[in-house]
Amino acid sequence: MKKISFLLSCFFSLSLFAQTTYLHCGKVFDSKTGKIKKEMTLIVEGDKIKAVEKGYVVPVAGATAIDLKTKTVYPGFIDMHVHIESESNPSRYLDRYRLNDADVAYDAAKHAHSTLMAGFTTVRDLGGSGVNISLRKAIAAGKVPGPRIYTAGKIISSTGGHGDPTNGNRDELMGDPGPKDGVVNSPADARKAVRQRYKNGADWIKITATGGVLSVAKSGQNPQFTEEEIKAITSTAKDYGMQVAAHAHGDEGMYRAVANGVKTIEHGTLIEEKTMKLMIQKNAFLVPTISAGKYVAEKAKIPGFYPAIIVPKAIAIGAQIQATFAKAYKMGVPIAFGTDSGVSLHGDNAKEFGFMTEVGMPASEAIQTATIVNAEILKAENELGQLAPGFYADIVASDENALENIATLENITFVMKNGKVYKQ
Ligand SMILES: [Zn+2]
Repeated sequence: MKKISFLLSCFFSLSLFAQTTYLHCGKVFDSKTGKIKKEMTLIVEGDKIKAVEKGYVVPVAGATAIDLKTKTVYPGFIDMHVHIESESNPSRYLDRYRLNDADVAYDAAKHAHSTLMAGFTTVRDLGGSGVNISLRKAIAAGKVPGPRIYTAGKIISSTGGHGDPTNGNRDELMGDPGPKDGVVNSPADARKAVRQRYKNGADWIKITATGGVLSVAKSGQNPQFTEEEIKAITSTAKDYGMQVAAHAHGDEGMYRAVANGVKTIEHGTLIEEKTMKLMIQKNAFLVPTISAGKYVAEKAKIPGFYPAIIVPKAIAIGAQIQATFAKAYKMGVPIAFGTDSGVSLHGDNAKEFGFMTEVGMPASEAIQTATIVNAEILKAENELGQLAPGFYADIVASDENALENIATLENITFVMKNGKVYKQ
């Protein structure tokens, strides 16, 4: 029986079950070389790219063709830093008292849709309530449209730290959250919090190594973990096959994080030379999130948009992030692509490309960070980030060549994910 069904599936797989699509592409961005190839055909079968051919290959009988001859085609983009569940608004600080998980889930599905339509076919979600894990499953099962998600589930912080979920509450609502809620105060707590995230189904671990802008707390940059706590987190994560991302603005917390095995530093605002050198040495990546920096600095000027304690932090830190990126890039720090969408608006992710090129990174390299580089950080370098045989058919296109006009990526006109067309 097994043998018969195997033979049947071999016989029918090409003709009946797996849809074959020929994409005739005027220009294709090769993420390996950073160069454009002209007049290519991508042959997609099922959810994967089966072949990449020169010229416009005539489709075999039963296959469909998609005409992208006037467009420039790229591997689907990967954003290493989003918060898919929420989006900035002046009432955000009340949302945790108003919204049930079901409300959050509908918002999250909407944000996932905007993200996919903007050409981002994979994201790493760096913190939410846990709805992000359910959304990952629903998208993977094809129940709702959205990018492929790698998620950290709930953030891990210390008491009063940037990710403490009860910051700013009145006393009786403050409680004493522990490892399960993502608040740790010892290496033992830290190990427990990582194991809890594994149990909940997280793919990554996110810690808040320093203070942050949008928490209801005074410092935006103080170190918030001891080295022993960070070490307990990274070593436990490693045991469970997970890597660690660290939110960090101040240099001390950032240095401790990199020295103790964190893979990506988010924001990195006040980074100093010794930390940059350590990142180069350890192949740790900076995820710049310039989009978020610019967004909060701008919104902080609107009275009442953020609580008063946040305004000076948003103005001081937000405005610096682009210059930090420029400095780190010049120094040779490994750079990933990430926006912190959710702080800025979902669907605006591609603005980050412009912010990166504005201060010195060539367009081809910026696109590489969002494709081949991010795929490697996710340990998905054999299935994401390239238009090559065996890779997932995550394919996007713009009307103009982004190497000549990077802003064209803010208007993605074709989106395929897993071989399925979502925008044409
Ligand atoms: Zn973030």
